[in-house]
Amino acid sequence: MTNNDTQTILRNIPGVDYLLEKLKNDYDFQYIPLSVIKSSIRAVLERVRKSIIDGDEKTLSDNIQNEKGLFHETIIHDILNHAREIIAPRLVPTINATGVVIHTNLGRSILCQDALERITQIAGGFSNLEFDIKKGKRGERYSAVEELLCDLTGAESAMAVNNNAGAVFLSLNTLAREREVVVSRGELVEIGGSFRIPDVMEKSGCKLKEVGTTNRTHLRDYGSAISEKTALLLKVHTSNYTIEGFTASVPLSELVLLGKKHQLSVMEDLGSGSLIDLSKYGLAREPTVSDSVAAGADVVTFSGDKLLGGPQAGIIVGRADAIKQIKLNPLTRALRIDKLTLAALEATLNLYRDEADAIRKIPTLRMLTLPFEETVERANKLINDIKLKILYKSKNTNATCNMANSTEDSGKNNVVVGYADLASRTGGGSYPEYSIPSRCVTIESKHISAALLERKMRMYKPAIIGRIDNNRFIIDTRTLQSGEDQIICSALADILNRK
Ligand SMILES: *Cc1c(COP(=O)(O)O)cnc(C)c1O
Repeated sequence: MTNNDTQTILRNIPGVDYLLEKLKNDYDFQYIPLSVIKSSIRAVLERVRKSIIDGDEKTLSDNIQNEKGLFHETIIHDILNHAREIIAPRLVPTINATGVVIHTNLGRSILCQDALERITQIAGGFSNLEFDIKKGKRGERYSAVEELLCDLTGAESAMAVNNNAGAVFLSLNTLAREREVVVSRGELVEIGGSFRIPDVMEKSGCKLKEVGTTNRTHLRDYGSAISEKTALLLKVHTSNYTIEGFTASVPLSELVLLGKKHQLSVMEDLGSGSLIDLSKYGLAREPTVSDSVAAGADVVTFSGDKLLGGPQAGIIVGRADAIKQIKLNPLTRALRIDKLTLAALEATLNLYRDEADAIRKIPTLRMLTLPFEETVERANKLINDIKLKILYKSKNTNATCNMANSTEDSGKNNVVVGYADLASRTGGGSYPEYSIPSRCVTIESKHISAALLERKMRMYKPAIIGRIDNNRFIIDTRTLQSGEDQIICSALADILNRK
């Protein structure tokens, strides 16, 4: 390749105006802003020019072998792809086949239908967000949910902020700034990397007074830590881990008595904060928000998007005087709940007026309480669908597939579709990592490793997130939403039948 050849090829690179004219013929052109098209042209031309100058084998041979027209077509194709990628949304729907119900990385709770409808209604117009319609004057943002929260939890007063981290921060800052907060060493938790009780304590201007040990803390430990500098006794729900063996912690009710004796406020960060006792549905017994209120805590905080199954929010319930003080803290403004969230929260909470309604209509609760037998049914159906789609393809679509079992070989594409009884999980920062029996679909292929299949499923559009167990790709049906099994079948067909 001489310098002259390179110059000739460089001269073959089309000009911007020529490309724009050509691009106009593409159907997608009308949907892509001109500024995006132009910057894509620049980016692609620069890349082409660079690869020619660098003597990139493929660009050069393409150019030599192909007609000039084909070279141009490739460039146009690249420009459109580049532009489409730029305008494609980055936040996209994702299929949760992990079996982790409250998956923080995948957006925690899915909203119920009622919440979605209320968001559309409130977001599309004006509302009485901070307007008291009866009195005709300024009202409180929390009015939409305060009464409801009090009814559901037995608290005197309630409010909601942006998230539970904010709720804890705001409550500590209001009730104990520049004074000491007594916490058990066993409850100095970190939740999801950035929320750590000691750090939140420091940032909220409070002094942490640790008591007891990691595994055992007694009432007397709290008692001897109390001084004139103490403002608050704090209990933190150890949401994402459990300590087993020789352990002891002080029940909230006893802390409340101690607080009363010393005229100190008592606060509990419940983290997940269930409004329903889920042990009725076969899950572990966890304290509900009502339990904490009944035990006499002055302030109880919890998330809106964990076990509650609503939008991201931090809910604060408790005694009227404590909540009133918190509402008056100027920081409330910085942490205030948005109207879309408020609309969704109200709609979600409304369903809790009838427990059966809540279980049936709130996706998080529905997934958590889905009986094992139903995961078996879902898994069987998915296994059959996958087999029809990838194994027997169009040739023999009405083949009767037997109940799946892990030893059956698929024949020509060497794929084994089976099942395994594994465990779904409630999810980090809700219950202490609690498992729920679930029947999962397993996929193994002789041609593609579980790791590569996992990656290809993840890169599929929409992304399908599963997990690997024992060198098999695992699809947990508990967390699948309606219609997603068909997408999974198509993805597997695309990926495995291509082999
Ligand atoms: C999840 C959790 C938080 C943080 O709540 P966000 O709603 O994620 O801000 C705080 N404390 C506990 C105990 C938690 O489990």
